[in-house]
Amino acid sequence: MTDMTDFGRKLTQLLPETEIRFRESMAKHTSFRVGGEAEMMVFPKTGEELAEILKLSKILDRKPAILGAGTNVLAPDEGIPGLTICLKDCLDGMERLEGNRIRLMAGVTMSRGAVFAAKENLGGLEFAHGIPGTIGGGVYMNAGAYGGELGQVVESVLVCDRDGNLRRLSNEEMGFSYRHSVLEETGDIVLSADFRLTERPGEDVRAKMKELIGKRSASQPLDLPSAGSAFKRPAGGYAAALIDQAGLRGFRVGGAAISEKHAGFAVNLGGATAADVKALLSAVSDKVYEQSGIRLEPEIRIW
Ligand SMILES: Cc1cc2nc3c(=O)[nH]c(=O)nc-3n(C[C@H](O)[C@H](O)[C@H](O)COP(=O)(O)OP(=O)(O)OC[C@H]3O[C@@H](n4cnc5c(N)ncnc54)[C@H](O)[C@@H]3O)c2cc1C
Repeated sequence: MTDMTDFGRKLTQLLPETEIRFRESMAKHTSFRVGGEAEMMVFPKTGEELAEILKLSKILDRKPAILGAGTNVLAPDEGIPGLTICLKDCLDGMERLEGNRIRLMAGVTMSRGAVFAAKENLGGLEFAHGIPGTIGGGVYMNAGAYGGELGQVVESVLVCDRDGNLRRLSNEEMGFSYRHSVLEETGDIVLSADFRLTERPGEDVRAKMKELIGKRSASQPLDLPSAGSAFKRPAGGYAAALIDQAGLRGFRVGGAAISEKHAGFAVNLGGATAADVKALLSAVSDKVYEQSGIRLEPEIRIW
């Protein structure tokens, strides 16, 4: 087994500027505010730095965990052994390209990206404005809302594989489908994404974003920690409606509960553990199945 202190020493020799934290609370890095400690967390600033870290991490016994804004992750109570690479606020940058195109780095939040597009008089990312994750996390799981999803506007994605090699994948190669991309299979890491958008007056784009934010705050429990929709939309139905029909609004396990405001959200009422959340999701899935014959699958990434 590789000792992480020794790995930290090697990393500091190779990349003296890279920030390293040991025993970092995952509750601090996830919107659910749940989870034990990451044994070691690093914060690369550039794609090159990330590639060097990945190359060095080949000596470790397990693949590093990749964290964006932590808004779709349930981190385990017992913590995360080995290395966690946090990309939020690290891979930062937004750029106008030729034509109606923009490049957003993986650590930029989807909201910032949408606001940047509006400033450039470009539409197409309005739906993503209220999604709290990063471009990296959003591309990884093809985030979407209100009829839009990133896969509809992504032109290409610059990724880094686990050996530290960079390559650009086209939209087709990304294999986007509902809340899924090929990266879930390959484990490649998003460094940046290029978007092909549509010319539209900035004020119209901003008005649409304002309307959608209004819808979100009216219907979602944004005052409580959560990871967004707890379950994927099943074929032929809506998870929230099925949960509601099964009488589970407000259903609680320990500190975790189905939101009273939106039955599609699992929320942390205070002091929830990952075990509470997992037990809640599994009980809800079973009860909905008994009631409707439809099996709900978690949308939250359970680490
Ligand atoms: C209040 C609330 C509302 C939400 N509303 C929506 C919504 O409307 N639509 C929607 O789709 N989602 C929604 N979400 C969920 C979440 O914001 C999205 O899934 C988002 O895409 C996650 O991005 P992240 O940066 O937080 O990723 P994380 O939660 O940090 O990670 C999620 C997964 O992506 C992987 N990942 C992260 N960064 C990278 C990278 N650079 N390269 C490769 N893999 C990476 C991680 O390994 C992990 O498996 C909501 C969440 C909350 C809390």
